[in-house]
Amino acid sequence: MFAFSNKRVLILGAARSGIACAGLLVKKGATVTISDASKTLVSTRELDLLKQKGVNVQIGGHPVSLLSDADYIIISPGIRSNLPLLHRARLKNIPVLSEIEVAYTYLACPVIAITGTNGKTTTTSLIGEMFRQSGRKTLVCGNIGWPISAVADKADWQSIVVAEISSFQLENIVNFRPHISVMLNITPDHLDRYPDFKAYALAKKNIYIHQERSDFAVINYDNPASRKSAGRIKSKVIFFSRRKILSSGVLVKNNTIYVRLQGRQRKIIRTNELGIPGPHNLENALAAIACGVLGGVELAGMRETLRNFRGVEHRLELVKTVKGVKYINDSKATNVDSLVKALESFQEKIILIAGGRDKGSPYWPLAKLVKQKVKALIVLGEARVKIKGELGQLTRTHEVKSLPEAVKLGQQLARPGDIVLLSPACASFDMFQNYEQRGRVFKEEVQKLTAKSKAQSFK
Ligand code: ADP
Repeated sequence: MFAFSNKRVLILGAARSGIACAGLLVKKGATVTISDASKTLVSTRELDLLKQKGVNVQIGGHPVSLLSDADYIIISPGIRSNLPLLHRARLKNIPVLSEIEVAYTYLACPVIAITGTNGKTTTTSLIGEMFRQSGRKTLVCGNIGWPISAVADKADWQSIVVAEISSFQLENIVNFRPHISVMLNITPDHLDRYPDFKAYALAKKNIYIHQERSDFAVINYDNPASRKSAGRIKSKVIFFSRRKILSSGVLVKNNTIYVRLQGRQRKIIRTNELGIPGPHNLENALAAIACGVLGGVELAGMRETLRNFRGVEHRLELVKTVKGVKYINDSKATNVDSLVKALESFQEKIILIAGGRDKGSPYWPLAKLVKQKVKALIVLGEARVKIKGELGQLTRTHEVKSLPEAVKLGQQLARPGDIVLLSPACASFDMFQNYEQRGRVFKEEVQKLTAKSKAQSFK
């Protein structure tokens, strides 16, 4: 384990995780410098608070001189591991660590760590709810909620930490050892940051790397890359599957979820009782059930949580039905597979709004579903030409300049019984601050449609 007290620590990246990590390290007696290349993206209020605590703040670049005062370098998820400064640090034998490694050093309780290309936030929230409802002190960290560094010293030995962990956070770990790790799926994403799919999958596999025999790995049997990741790991593998009736693991038989472990079968719940829709959310529920059972959550409470949990904002969120057309906000669908899952979740005809900042993956794997379900495709953002090029011949396709324009056009094209779906398959940063802002703009525009259609009906 690392000891950071009385050490000089340089943190790269001053977003939520970096700032939380700086706060933690100062409390633990380290001398901390935090550096960020951007002058504009950093919250000045939070940095002022850090300065008051004695943190040295360096904004607008990562000068090499920072290395001369560093015993450790901690990197936030947004920082690329191949930054030239980090290369130099490694040559100087300065340890380069992920922010989660710092948090882990101070955690006094078991960790359930959830990774995967898609479904992390949803599954983390669901597992968090299960444990909270069971009465256990539960600390949920990730994209929503707190960064793991913010909760690290709030946990006691009876708590449980449920943490959403990205591949970026897994790149520079040394000891991080979750008691239960969850691999939801590995599908192409972030190919703008990794040289290829193999490298991305390898980073994700790090979640098991320090697990021991007494730990558990909950793995999606149905996703080939995840299933493959189960080879040669020390922890006990618990597979889950919505397709195969597994002899051991968490499975679905006759539309009912069962857990089969150590020769014992327990019936959990019927799939149509789950509060979250779609086959992908069934997978998330199966993973959560595995964690709940392993963590000793009582079955009656678990069932209640599974029935009541309605998912998370910006993930297949029904905004409103206007004149018989459902408007669905899936702004968090920032890669191709999440759009696949959105299209698979509906029987209705879909007017699809997609596009944004391209992340390097092809769109043609969507072709079959687009042909089957997408009545019209509205493309926007930097990726619009690429998407139109790969899918445009399969359905009526329109290019638009803004999201409000897309919503208006969606309304014109839709007929009662259709769905207008924002599920971009791209990042948001070309037109918005983040996916949350994109989702909010969509919802505001949909609310305006409602008002307008009411006003018209009164004429
Ligand atoms: P993450 O935190 O991994 O980005 P989210 O729960 O925020 O995952 O969901 C992101 C997007 O992926 C949403 O569009 C959601 O509908 C979709 N999604 C959720 N779970 C899954 C899953 N198991 N497989 C594929 N897509 C999923």
